[in-house]
Amino acid sequence: MITFNVGPSKVYPELEIFLQNAYNEGILSMAHRGVAFGEMMKKTLALLSQKLNIPPNYTIVFASSATECWEIIPQSLTQERTYHIFNGAFGEKWWKYASNIHLKTEKIALDISEILNLEKVQTFLTFTERRGGKIQVLDEHELICLTHNETSNGSKIPNKTIEDVFNNYPKQLIAYDCTSSMAGVALPWNFGDVWYASVQKCFGLPAGLAIMVLSPRAIARMKERNDRKHYNSLLPMYENIQKYQTTHTPNVLGIYLLMRVLEKLPNIVETEQMVQTRAKAYYNAVIANKRLELLVSHQEMRSDTVIAIKTTPENLTEMKYITKKEGIEIGNGYDIWKENTFRIANFPALDVEEVEKMTRILQFF
Ligand SMILES: *Cc1c(COP(=O)(O)O)cnc(C)c1O
Repeated sequence: MITFNVGPSKVYPELEIFLQNAYNEGILSMAHRGVAFGEMMKKTLALLSQKLNIPPNYTIVFASSATECWEIIPQSLTQERTYHIFNGAFGEKWWKYASNIHLKTEKIALDISEILNLEKVQTFLTFTERRGGKIQVLDEHELICLTHNETSNGSKIPNKTIEDVFNNYPKQLIAYDCTSSMAGVALPWNFGDVWYASVQKCFGLPAGLAIMVLSPRAIARMKERNDRKHYNSLLPMYENIQKYQTTHTPNVLGIYLLMRVLEKLPNIVETEQMVQTRAKAYYNAVIANKRLELLVSHQEMRSDTVIAIKTTPENLTEMKYITKKEGIEIGNGYDIWKENTFRIANFPALDVEEVEKMTRILQFF
């Protein structure tokens, strides 16, 4: 069965060998404070920077999941509140977790048919400021939360918006959930402060590891906040990674597999080209097909890595039947879109033949 599920998703086929190697090389019993682990960690961090073009002044730490990052960010980087702007279920979940940490957390839910641009962000932030009765601009100790790629509905935030928001809010930190886009597209690191992802989507790896990338401004804020209260407070995570260690026994196997996969991957610019070419073929196939429709109407909001397709419930049943017969598993619609949409992962681990097969199905459905 070929899985086009959006997570957990298809893993790189080389994992069969990498897992065997891990067993033979004693990775599964490796001491996480030992020299060998430190070397592996150092190499993995260097590979991440090199392959994903992460700026040298940014810091990388590991967590267990994107969900954990949802908590770490409000906990360790903000004083009173975070500001959430989203149009789907993952963005909303982040807000829910954050609002359990800070009561004053603010949110706005946009419709899937809206374009997320600077104006939308400004209107929301100005509104919350006025309601808070503040005379001065937005509290400079706070943080704006955005979902770079909304996996639930196949929408993304355009690069132009990312740049505009960064340039207009120079005092606030800006955090991006890029769980289903990191390692699939080239992220504009310099226009954001916190970028994080789990590895079971675009990295083509099994779940249980998350990568968090932090700007120098985020590190400065973290030091200023000085939060050490939690097992996953960012400051001890940061201090440990300086020594190529972690606060607790990490997912050593996950880190090893990440290192092995990164070694064989091309630079992200090359991967992005492939992903975008494939996305275009999928989108064109859907647009040309009268029985199918794209869930995201504005072209600039359409994700490169998750394709969400709308159809009738009857057509959906037929689509599932056809794909299953072809040995393909597609992703179900999420949440309110369960009955009339399906999702296709456009993740790099899927190979040429698989992508061509899927494109043909969309074309001739
Ligand atoms: C999958 C996903 C998550 C959750 O990842 P976990 O590893 O299960 O915590 C969070 N955000 C987005 C955008 C996702 O796609």
